[in-house]
Amino acid sequence: MSARAGIVITGTEVLSGIIADRNGPWLSERLRELGVELAHILIVGDRREDMTAALRFLADERVALIVTSGGLGPTADDLTTEVVAEFAGRPMVLDEPLEQRIAAIVAPLAQRWPNLDRTAMAEGTRKQAHVPAGATVLEPVGTAPGVVVPPADGRDPARPTVVVLPGPPRELQPMWAAARATDAFRAAVAGATVYEQGILRLLGLPESEIAETLRVAERTGLDLAPLEITTCLRRGEIEIATLYEPGGAPAYEAFVEFVRARHGTQLFSQDGTTVDEQVAALLNGPPLRTVAVAESCTGGLLAGRLTERPGSSAYVAGGVVVYSNEAKQALAGVDPALIAQVGAVSAEVADALADGALVRFGADVGVGVTGIAGPGGGTPEKPVGRVHVAVAARDGSGVARGGGRVARRLDLPGGRADVRDRTTTVALHLLRRLLLGQLDEPA
Ligand code: ATP
Ligand code: MG
Repeated sequence: MSARAGIVITGTEVLSGIIADRNGPWLSERLRELGVELAHILIVGDRREDMTAALRFLADERVALIVTSGGLGPTADDLTTEVVAEFAGRPMVLDEPLEQRIAAIVAPLAQRWPNLDRTAMAEGTRKQAHVPAGATVLEPVGTAPGVVVPPADGRDPARPTVVVLPGPPRELQPMWAAARATDAFRAAVAGATVYEQGILRLLGLPESEIAETLRVAERTGLDLAPLEITTCLRRGEIEIATLYEPGGAPAYEAFVEFVRARHGTQLFSQDGTTVDEQVAALLNGPPLRTVAVAESCTGGLLAGRLTERPGSSAYVAGGVVVYSNEAKQALAGVDPALIAQVGAVSAEVADALADGALVRFGADVGVGVTGIAGPGGGTPEKPVGRVHVAVAARDGSGVARGGGRVARRLDLPGGRADVRDRTTTVALHLLRRLLLGQLDEPA
């Protein structure tokens, strides 16, 4: 049986919805990688009783490990370490060398605020240097140390070990690596089974189709029992994440083969890579190919997605946002007569935008996007959600002979954000197809 864990996210600002929890999902993925089964994520405010109740609940559920986030600051309302010490049956003690190290971290920060109350600051530092006796200290990434706290000697050894981490994700994430490496952490999850994880991604089918695929697979006699399969819809793509113990590898391979046979090219990733990563790799080459975009309804979101990765400046030549017809003409070279004739939201204008982007930036590949992301912009002939996307290769770019192109007309459901997001996903898939030489038949 594998070790089970719980996560306690603290912070009234998270509980109240002012900020969205980023630590729970992140820690969940890290635990899964370690083969630790996550039982619950609890969110509590900065209140002693509520935190204690959350810890007790998880202890009653027999988890071996609890990870907390937040509440490690220097002020009195940051309570987590204290509450955890009490829960573990360990007194709080001052760690003087730690106090000096924290003081050394905050001293340069303090110089920026000359009017700072030095006494209050020293008190805050001293508070943060109090740790549960016998706990393993995790060095501060910001100013707050974390701790790994096993149950005190003489307590039920089956009680969980608690990993106490700071709230800011940029502090929590590096500290997690240090926490994992501690003996106390390893001892707590010693029973964990190591799982393999496989991720498949598919485009262009509803989730119900995948449910049907799983049913058919079982009916065909495929052994899915060793596999824990989770499917979800993300940005218009289906993700199938499968966990299995090393012995389940043949079952997983058979499952992948089944999905490939049934869904063909809709299965675009067998190694978990996203379409964004695949497009980046294809553009990066060798040979290196550059891309340029001219976007209307996506307002720069496609350019944003293309430039998310380090090194993207090598292959993204540039982009323009061309909302008005004048901008389409002035910045992407679209003939106003064409717009007058077929309308701005049309396959022709998407093509012209792709060509215009190519020319304007001297890129190898151009992408044009025009559509109605709504609300209120639609007509019966061109409803909200109607989008045209075109991807064109420059003649002689070597991407596709004779200036190949790929284009789609979409009718996307949902609100503005959905339409815009889905459009960028489809544009990336068309770009991928063009770069792989999977062209549309010439009309
Ligand atoms: P600090 O020393 O900064 O007070 P802390 O460990 O006490 O750190 P909190 O006070 O709980 O952490 O949170 C500080 C800030 O970190 C929050 O205002 C928020 O911006 C961010 N933060 C905290 N918890 C989360 C979370 N679960 N998800 C995303 N951001 C968070
Ligand atoms: Mg705080």
